[in-house]
This record gives sequence, C-alpha cells and structure tokens, in this order.
Amino acid sequence: MRTAIVTGASRGIGRACAITLATQGLAVVVNYAGSDGEAAQVVSEIENAGSRALAVQADVASASDVARLFDQAEAAFAGIDVVVSSAGVMTTGHIAEVGDDEFDRVIDVNLRGTFNVFREAARRVRDDGRLIGLSSTTLALNAPGYSLYNATKGAVEGMVRVVAKELGGRGITVNAVAPGPVETGLFLDGKSDADVQRMAGMAPQKRLGQPDDIAALVAFLASPQAAWVSGQIVRANGGIA
Ligand code: NDP
Repeated sequence: MRTAIVTGASRGIGRACAITLATQGLAVVVNYAGSDGEAAQVVSEIENAGSRALAVQADVASASDVARLFDQAEAAFAGIDVVVSSAGVMTTGHIAEVGDDEFDRVIDVNLRGTFNVFREAARRVRDDGRLIGLSSTTLALNAPGYSLYNATKGAVEGMVRVVAKELGGRGITVNAVAPGPVETGLFLDGKSDADVQRMAGMAPQKRLGQPDDIAALVAFLASPQAAWVSGQIVRANGGIA
C-alpha cells in the first residue's frame, strides 16, 4: 500500500488533499499543529470511507517534530511514498510595517517548515516517491503587501527545482502547486466581503478556488501516472495568471 504524509491536513487545502489521496487508495498521515478535533474528524472521514489514516501533531517549524512525524508514519505504515507540504501561514502588510516577530513566524512555518519536511522526505521516501510543495499565484501577481509571504513561496519554488534534480535518479518527482485564491481560513481571515468578492472576480469563472480544485492536481502529481512531471511549478487559479 502506498502511504502519504500531508502536513497541515486538519483544515483547508491539506485536508482536501488527505481525503482525495485516501480515496485513491493511499494510507494517509494527517499532520496538524493545534487543531486536534479537526484532525480527528479528517481521520474519521477517511476511515469511514474504508481507507487508513493516522493523525500526528507536529510543528513543521521544528526539525525534531518533523522527524517524529516521519517516525510515526513509518511505524504505522510500511513506508512513505508521497509527501505533501501544505502547512502554511499567510501574512500581508507593507514591508515598512512588518515586524521581526512576524518575519520569524512566517519564515519558520513556510520556509523552514517546507525545508524540514523536504529534507526528511529526501532521507526517507521510497524510490518512485512524490514530493509536492505549496507555492502561490501571489508570486505572479506581485501585489503590494505580499513581500514576506512571496519571499517564502519563492524559496519553496527554488527548493523544488533543485531537489527535483537531487532525487530524480531514484524516480522521485518533486513539484509545487501554486494556487490562486482558495476559500479557506488562510484566505478569508481578515478580509472584508468586498475584498473577497473583488478577488473572486479576478478569475474568468468569477469564483474562488475550492480546496478540492487544488487536491485534484495534487492527486495527479502524487500518482504513478505523473512520473515524467518533475521540477515544475503548476499554477491552479482558474486562469488569473
Ligand atoms: P489553512 O489556514 O486553511 O490551513 C492551514 C493548515 O496548516 C492547518 O491544517 C494548520 O494546522 C496547518 N499549520 C499551520 N502552521 C503549522 C505548523 N507550524 N505545523 C504544522 N501544521 C501547521 O490554509 P490553506 O489550506 O489555505 O493553505 C495551505 C497551503 O496553501 C499554505 O501553504 C498556503 O500558503 C497555500 N496557499 C493557499 C492559498 C489560499 O488562497 N488559501 C493560495 C495559495 C497558496 P492547525 O489547524 O492545527 O492550525
């Protein structure tokens, strides 16, 4: 049986990825930071549909937590084949107003977190495995306020292109998905209804992305059929950019 670890799988895009991968027959490790109840619900949903899942709390910003996450995954299932690094936080604000604490928090989760997860995956994922990171279409839009967030996502894209070459000889592919606005807590928190409507209107289909829109692409990249797609950043944004 193939096994996936999905970080940040208690909510939003990670949750949809975990459920979609389970429907495709993978056992899934549902990682989360603090949302025990939500993570347990994701596990129940997967188990009720007849697949296997395990919730594991781990802060992706901590290398030792990430090592423990992989330890628990290997102990529960035979080995690890797919790693989706979805855990992330969002911040916006003019660069002149960004504080040091905010800088540390966003770098720790989005950049150090992806690094910790990719490094552990590089050590442990079985041959022909799949690594998938989360970037963002905000990198293409360059809107004011996104300097710090975009810096972390640019770093994710840079890592993906290099690690794809480092692991490719073992048949492991490494890609990133770069969504446009997706209707999750991360996107909605702190935005006015008018802002949300304006951003939904940017897409030719005049709607926000849904977590399942992203999970479908992640599931393809995680599949054996995607063996010849590696080192790529794939935007999923309804055609915004
Ligand atoms: P949500 O806020 O809906 O969910 C975030 C998830 O990440 C939660 O499961 C949360 O766990 C987890 N998480 C946060 N910090 C940590 C941590 N330190 N360690 C482990 N888990 C953590 O976010 P989205 O689903 O919207 O975002 C997922 C990814 O997609 C992010 O990388 C984001 O940057 C990217 N993205 C999102 C877009 C959007 O519009 N939504 C657009 C483009 C990219 P808990 O519940 O326990 O807090």
